[in-house]
Amino acid sequence: MKIADKNTKAVDLVRAALEKAKECEDYHAFISMNEAHALDRAREIDAKIARGEDAGRLAGVPFALKDNYLSPEGHTTAAAKMLENFISPITATAVARIEAEGAIMIGRTNLDAYAHGGSTENSYFGPTSNAYDKTRVSGGSSGGSAVAVALGIVPFALGSDTGGSIRQPASFNGVYGVKPTFGTVSRYGVVAMASSTDTMGCFAKNVEDANLVMSIMAGKDEKDSTTLDDFWTKPLEEAKPAKKKIGLIKDFMGEGVDEEVKAAVLGYADKLKKAGYEIEEISMPTLKYALAIYYIVVPAEIASNLSRYDGIRYGFRSKEAKNLDEIYSKTRDEGFMPENKRRIMIGNFVLSSGFFDAYYLKAQKARTLLINEYNKAFEKYDALLCPVAPRPAFKIGENTSDPLQMYLEDIMTVPPSLAGIPGLSIPVGKSKAGLPIGAQLVGPRQSDQTLLHIAAEVEEK
Ligand code: GLN
Repeated sequence: MKIADKNTKAVDLVRAALEKAKECEDYHAFISMNEAHALDRAREIDAKIARGEDAGRLAGVPFALKDNYLSPEGHTTAAAKMLENFISPITATAVARIEAEGAIMIGRTNLDAYAHGGSTENSYFGPTSNAYDKTRVSGGSSGGSAVAVALGIVPFALGSDTGGSIRQPASFNGVYGVKPTFGTVSRYGVVAMASSTDTMGCFAKNVEDANLVMSIMAGKDEKDSTTLDDFWTKPLEEAKPAKKKIGLIKDFMGEGVDEEVKAAVLGYADKLKKAGYEIEEISMPTLKYALAIYYIVVPAEIASNLSRYDGIRYGFRSKEAKNLDEIYSKTRDEGFMPENKRRIMIGNFVLSSGFFDAYYLKAQKARTLLINEYNKAFEKYDALLCPVAPRPAFKIGENTSDPLQMYLEDIMTVPPSLAGIPGLSIPVGKSKAGLPIGAQLVGPRQSDQTLLHIAAEVEEK
């Protein structure tokens, strides 16, 4: 990516990004632009450079921010009516770290409201189109961020991934998507979805950029007690895999998976072989339970996290409400999207007494079995390879009347989320119709840089 220096002005980088965003307005990647503020910041960076000061490792680089990261410029909406007019008093740690290195936020990107979804169709502000076909979905929930990078508006964008929300839109739009180990990047100041699987990561056009952005965001934050000590510290060349062995997950290469997706992933496996990796098929029988586990545990956490939106503490309050009960019920009825409500209902159901043991507790036990199965696989392999999604981007509207079909699209991305392990989405090809296809590399906890190292070895530049 282009960094501002004596010859490259931050103001020019930011102007070019804003212009490109305007040209691409009909994709609806952004919910709001941060034009005046971004240009002010760019002038400050240019002045710093002119004075001979260090303007940071991302000096003047424009970036796009998923609209569930809090920062005080403009509204942070999470693509929900509930937060349509919400102005944050704080800045998310991840954003603060990126901005401290000189990067400049040009706008906030579209998502499924509260990040609930896999297509960005659940946004209160309407869907984002795929960068390669306007009639198709951008993927989700970080659809806007993926499209902003794919269209070349910005060199990187931030997203959040709870069950695939970075990896899947990355694969639908042909860019890299990094979902780090749980706890790598602070979640302070990001609108919570599911606290045991929420992770913050990024989209970029190449491995080097992705690695740089992640290395800046990663590390301990006293405002998020689940953050790990910074382990994103190596030069990428040194993050070598120990075994040079990769397992190809058989369970995700069979029935129900698009032939072109399979072919693209096998093609990528061949490339890895040529680069000296041993590729072996592996079967992981617990994976078939992952979707059921996810859609019990995650709604439970969602129901709990969304209980704070009561019409009193944050954002929207219904004008129809005549008493306290109605403030709660009407505000929540009007402020949430149907998918948010569906998850609140499922979550409260699986947590209710009488059903807790049968659903929530059972799901958590099965989750442990899944984690054990991954651990066993990583005794033998550095990483596991599979598709990101069963098929390329689907049509806008195709799944909207069938929530279960929509959930099924998440089958390959939710397992690493439940295990808290890193997943990297890599663009590996295109379908005959010209739609991007992604492959997913998954590794043990804190092997994030190793995954990027592997991808860099076979990266097409
Ligand atoms: N598509 C998944 C879901 O709907 C993942 C969402 C996410 O990662 N935020 O839950």
